[in-house]
Amino acid sequence: MIGIASLGSGSRGNATLVCMEDELLLIDCGFTVKQAEARLARLGVRGGDISAILVTHEHSDHASGVAALAHKYALPIYASHGTYSRPQHALFGSAFDGDVAFEIGDVHVNPVRVPHDASEPTQFVLRCDGVQIGVLSDLGCVTPHVTRQFSGCDLLMLEANHDVEMLQNGKYPPALKRRIRSDLGHLSNEQAASLLAAVADPALNVLIGHVSEENNSVERIEAVFDPYRARVASIELATQSYGSGWIVQRGSVEELPVAQQGFALQTAQPNC
Ligand SMILES: [Zn+2]
Ligand SMILES: [Zn+2]
Repeated sequence: MIGIASLGSGSRGNATLVCMEDELLLIDCGFTVKQAEARLARLGVRGGDISAILVTHEHSDHASGVAALAHKYALPIYASHGTYSRPQHALFGSAFDGDVAFEIGDVHVNPVRVPHDASEPTQFVLRCDGVQIGVLSDLGCVTPHVTRQFSGCDLLMLEANHDVEMLQNGKYPPALKRRIRSDLGHLSNEQAASLLAAVADPALNVLIGHVSEENNSVERIEAVFDPYRARVASIELATQSYGSGWIVQRGSVEELPVAQQGFALQTAQPNC
């Protein structure tokens, strides 16, 4: 099976599961072990089924739960040298250069440097069996390098963090507003749409993520992205409380590489 699912996405915690045939890769974990386990169970996965954790950067909403989850299930961690250099979450594992690809099993992992106010932050393009999945969040602007690297995806998780007007008129302090809007902050709906315009393809499935609960709304996102529905295969939204279901590119969820098929899939509760 090849597909993607969000355990939850937003400023209070991020984690994304990418299944590529025999490998189940978790990208980031900004949740406690208990929360992560509950959210994994909703997707039919136990902690021990995960092949490895990839970390995009050291911000707490992405890295706070990585070390504890990795320790409990003896999972290998992959992160950039810069991410490991930051001490706050005590991460240890395999280090990569932010622009050098590597392999995990049959998965080709291409880290992509992004402009964000962290230490060597990277996002990921993953390839396996001719399928390409991109996970792209936490970037302040879309660079030509980012557009090039994320072209040709079959599945793309894409940050649409804020509506500029809601952010400007919202209650965040001025310094935080400036940080979010800066070229090292987060993508607005319009910036995300500009990237989508560049990489749109009739076969592309899009999962919108890292949506601000404070400075964005479903209505604003629909207003910006609905015009693109005719140009791509699908557009779905990952939420903070629930994440998303599996978006399957090939095969079915019955083919997840897990020890116990169907585990918790039927008993899932939203808002876990
Ligand atoms: Zn974040
Ligand atoms: Zn961040």
